[in-house]
Amino acid sequence: MNAHADKSIIRNVRVRQGETVKLGGDGDTPQEITCDDIARLALAMHEHSYFFSLRRGLNIRFSRDLNGSGTQGLYIKKEDDERGSPDLIQVIFQQTYKKDGEFLYEADLIMDRGKDYEPTVNKGKHRFVAQSATMLIDWNSDEVQQWRLDIERLSRSPETLAGWIADDLEMLVRCASGYFCRKPAILTKNDLKRHVSAGLSLEDLKTRLKCSKCGKHNARVEVF
Ligand SMILES: [Zn+2]
Repeated sequence: MNAHADKSIIRNVRVRQGETVKLGGDGDTPQEITCDDIARLALAMHEHSYFFSLRRGLNIRFSRDLNGSGTQGLYIKKEDDERGSPDLIQVIFQQTYKKDGEFLYEADLIMDRGKDYEPTVNKGKHRFVAQSATMLIDWNSDEVQQWRLDIERLSRSPETLAGWIADDLEMLVRCASGYFCRKPAILTKNDLKRHVSAGLSLEDLKTRLKCSKCGKHNARVEVF
C-alpha cells in the first residue's frame, strides 16, 4: 500500500451489523465506519428531511414495513436522479427484543403479511437497530462532510434570538396545529435581525408567530 492508495475514494460500502469498514483516512489516522455510523447519519438526515430536500436536493424515504416482516428501511437519493437509480444511502433496520441492548430509535412495529384476509397489524412500540447499511457515496467526500456539518448546525437551539444571529442560523416555523396544516415557513437571518431590532425576544417571537392558514399562535420553531 502506498500513500496514494490510502487516500483512495471508497464509493461502495456495504456493511452489516458488527462489521467495520476501513476508510482511507489522513496519514496515520485511518478511519473506520460501522453500520451504526451510517444509520445515525441517515436517521439525523431524515429528522431534518425538509432541510435536506429544500437545500441539498435529497429525497429521503422511510419505509415502515418491508416485505410484511416489520423490517424498516431508510433510503436517501438525489431528487433529480432518474427513477429507479440506486440510493446513495440505504439502511435496513430490524426490531430488537434485547431488554438492555442499545437501539437507534423507537417506533411502531407494523406488519402486513400481504394477504387480503389478514389486516395490517400494528404491534406497538418497539426498539430498532440497524441490520445493514449501503453507501454509494464516499463517507469523506465534500458532500457527505457538508451533510454532517449541516446536522451539527441543525441540532443547535440557541436560547436567545441574538444567539441565533450570532450562530448565523435561519428559522423554520411550523404551525402549532401539526405537520399537516400548512407548509413550514422560513425566517431568514435578515428577518430575525429585524425582530431583534424591534426588541422581540425569542419567546415573544414564538408567541406572536401566527399560522396564515388556521390562525393558530405559538408556532414551533427549529434551526434551519
Ligand atoms: Zn396552521
